Amino acid sequence: MKKIFIIAIFSVIFSYSQSRSSSSQNKIENPIISSIVDEATNNSQLENLAHELFDVIGPRLVGTPQMQKAHEWAVALYDSWGIEAYNHEWGKWRGWERGITHIDMIKPRLSTLTGRQLAWSPSTKKRGITAEVTIMPDINNKNDFEKWLKTIKGKFVLVSRYQPTGRTDSNWKEYALEESFEKMKNDREEISRKWYNNLRLTGYGYRDINKAYEDAGAVGLISSYWSRVPGSNKVFNARTEKIPNIDVNLEDYGALYRLVKNGKKPVIKVVSISKEHGDVPTFNTIAQIKGVEKPNEYVILSAHFDSWDGGQGTTDNGTGTLVMLEAMRILKKIYPNPKRTILVGHWGSEEQGLNGSRAFVEDFPEIVKNTQAVFNQDNGTGRVVSLSGQGFLYSYEFLTNWLYSVPNNISKHIKTDFPGLPSSGGSDYASFVSAGIPAFSLSSLSWDYGNFTWHTNLDTYDKIVFDDVRSNVILTAILAYKASEEDELVSREKRVMPINPRTGRVRDWPSIRKPNRDGTSAK
Ligand SMILES: [Zn+2]
Repeated sequence: MKKIFIIAIFSVIFSYSQSRSSSSQNKIENPIISSIVDEATNNSQLENLAHELFDVIGPRLVGTPQMQKAHEWAVALYDSWGIEAYNHEWGKWRGWERGITHIDMIKPRLSTLTGRQLAWSPSTKKRGITAEVTIMPDINNKNDFEKWLKTIKGKFVLVSRYQPTGRTDSNWKEYALEESFEKMKNDREEISRKWYNNLRLTGYGYRDINKAYEDAGAVGLISSYWSRVPGSNKVFNARTEKIPNIDVNLEDYGALYRLVKNGKKPVIKVVSISKEHGDVPTFNTIAQIKGVEKPNEYVILSAHFDSWDGGQGTTDNGTGTLVMLEAMRILKKIYPNPKRTILVGHWGSEEQGLNGSRAFVEDFPEIVKNTQAVFNQDNGTGRVVSLSGQGFLYSYEFLTNWLYSVPNNISKHIKTDFPGLPSSGGSDYASFVSAGIPAFSLSSLSWDYGNFTWHTNLDTYDKIVFDDVRSNVILTAILAYKASEEDELVSREKRVMPINPRTGRVRDWPSIRKPNRDGTSAK
């Protein structure tokens, strides 16, 4: 890995320095490339698109009316740009709609708490539920647990482990005495160890214990999945069938926890409304600019359209979506008669397992087979800084060649890794890689994506770094243009796969996986 990396870096530096003078000349000479840069820079639509998608439509959980609205918006938008687009139905899902979540602590004092219901959470009645909060005590065995279960009827149960600090570790590192920082970390580990041990003693697993709470008559579960950034919680799916599952921010969860532990019997009122919409169809939005010379060969731009719904789904994957929308708009304007067809896939239900793109690979084998390259973006708002050849032996040749045409102020940040290893998951390019089609991840600088915005309540418009997104638009549009203009379909030859040190056997190329087309029992 290391060796490959060094060779890759060396060859990139070598080839860039070798080609810089000629390529920058080419860039000036090539009116299409300079027009792409000019349009993206001086007539950017990113702010408008972001406003419409995040402020107006909002998050796009599979099966929600908002997801449907987004698909319809995208088709209308492409239509307004003169680009043919449609929504391709590939499956069905549990239709669900998030309503109001409002949480107040009533006793021992009045305080409005910060939290939200988890996706697909069952609804409360309109007037909500007012009840005492409880927590599992330290137990010695399953009997203790069963005994305690008899006491939770009519109560909310706190189901997450306690976090002793809401400060980031970097904050501690900067200000704490070294010994205080160490002590905090040890305390935190000890709490976590005890919590897991207590859970083990119940005889239940992390997932099925929630059913035991429901069966015992709890009125709701209160969890808190802190994302290690102040104010940031991961917001996934509810783990309940009949009662609401509410996620509360660390500081409010901690207060409830301490109140219970100290015998203060806190009472909360939860109004958490949601609507079931039965089974609803799921879609991918597909749009294309028809190729003139080779209409049956394709360059595919790819970004999943769906999101989790704790925030606005902005960096995951709204920004990837914006890149592909804006690149298509610009290509249609500057390069309206491409050699090959340029197709964009705004996939549904990536978050539940790359379902939309896997369905596309399964449903359109003729397109997939004749695809020159796929460019996917899906890891935040940052500028693209790495590009792996995904195990395609000659990716070095064609990707490097295409990258030469990208302005140096954009390409100079991109570290390449050739031939790289094929991804089996992570995002939608993997669906194409497994089918043996050159598909690449335009991988972004993190901007603390993992903890700050990825699947959190803070994944919102204000986190967009528009300059970086604009730079990704230029990169994507130029790569699409170059891939379209390439003489022949590029080589699909795969690398010799390395040995997996864990098994001692040669790794397999990832195999094609079936999409889940029936999410009607999603929870
Ligand atoms: Zn994503």
